[in-house]
Amino acid sequence: MKSIQSLRAIRALAAALLATLALASCETVQTTQPGAVGVDRKQSMLLSSAEVDKSAALAYQQEMKKAAAKNALNRDAAQVARVRVIALRLVPATAAFRPDAPRWAWETNVIASNEVNAWCMPGGKMAVYSGLIEKLKVTDDELAAVMGHEIAHALREHGRERASQAYAQALGLSVVGSALGLGQGSMQLAQIITEVTINLPNSREHEVEADRIGVELAARAGYDPRAAITLWQKMGQAGGGAPPQFLSTHPSPQNRQKDLEDFAARVMPLYETARKR
Ligand SMILES: [Zn+2]
Repeated sequence: MKSIQSLRAIRALAAALLATLALASCETVQTTQPGAVGVDRKQSMLLSSAEVDKSAALAYQQEMKKAAAKNALNRDAAQVARVRVIALRLVPATAAFRPDAPRWAWETNVIASNEVNAWCMPGGKMAVYSGLIEKLKVTDDELAAVMGHEIAHALREHGRERASQAYAQALGLSVVGSALGLGQGSMQLAQIITEVTINLPNSREHEVEADRIGVELAARAGYDPRAAITLWQKMGQAGGGAPPQFLSTHPSPQNRQKDLEDFAARVMPLYETARKR
């Protein structure tokens, strides 16, 4: 009886120790410069950018392969061209937040799907679903708004932050977790990246950051930042009352609309300047 109790105690201690170690090797980073919109939250990272980007590239390859197998990859050449032109204008604008970002290995593909969705994995691996383009009948400005939002998630390394949180939890909960080692298991990490990018909803905090940086990216690229407002309105109506899953934990529509209005107004001068070029 007593030995079982002490075994439990040791286990609890080990778990606590691992949690401490995890925290100790955790680095606090500033992933982006604040830009005109002033996003300046510091983030705790347990995993390195290099590790995460490598796994994200792997995860992206797998997703594209899956789409290709269903004959759903870049089926409509005009749609692909349209999306890539917008990406080409948005990517240079990322320099305002991260000087290194324009040189990332960006990729943009269109997946034929009824789903109203778009995402960008860490390192700039992006996908736009045809359902978003067709069902919402998006304008170029609106498409730039959604792509700017997704790119912002990548610039802020939200995927790395969320994967780090998942690892920290695993380390805190299980002694077995440490045996796997943090540097190992690119495949496992790729799976986590896929989950946090495509399947699991983002936190409100991440959404607000992506919204604000997104409007600035659009404005700097010469797209009307106010299109974010109509885009998210259309998105909210897409489910016919029930918002699409994509939106389920996004900020409440009223708060989001107000925030987008405020921040779109703030970056209007950037848009005016970009338009004159
Ligand atoms: Zn988002």
